[in-house]
Amino acid sequence: MLARCLNIIAGRCPRCHQGYLFRVQNPYNLKHFWEMPANCPHCDLKYNMEAGFWYGAMYITYLVGTMLLAPLMLLMNYLADPGFFENLALFAILLIVLIPIMFRYSRVIWIHIFVSYDPDARGESAD
Ligand SMILES: [Zn+2]
Repeated sequence: MLARCLNIIAGRCPRCHQGYLFRVQNPYNLKHFWEMPANCPHCDLKYNMEAGFWYGAMYITYLVGTMLLAPLMLLMNYLADPGFFENLALFAILLIVLIPIMFRYSRVIWIHIFVSYDPDARGESAD
């Protein structure tokens, strides 16, 4: 479980834990932060397993965004009690700044839900 969490943080392939899911490791390289290879360079796992596979990652984005921003909002309201528009502006800015990170981690978490670790596997099938 710890290894899986570390590989999710590192953005590595769920099957071999060697290849990276994204071509560029810096999420703030805004020209290329969303680019993924079609297959894992190490175990050849096909990342886009079926048409529309990544749509499910949007639910993870919602969950990750809520987990990041809800505690911050509660803390802000406890400490400073900002008005509605100050809250709105702050969270809009935070969401825009965090888009590359949330996008990547939602995809990484999503694929790690469906593919289990198998260091000996080669080829396109997930299991
Ligand atoms: Zn792999």
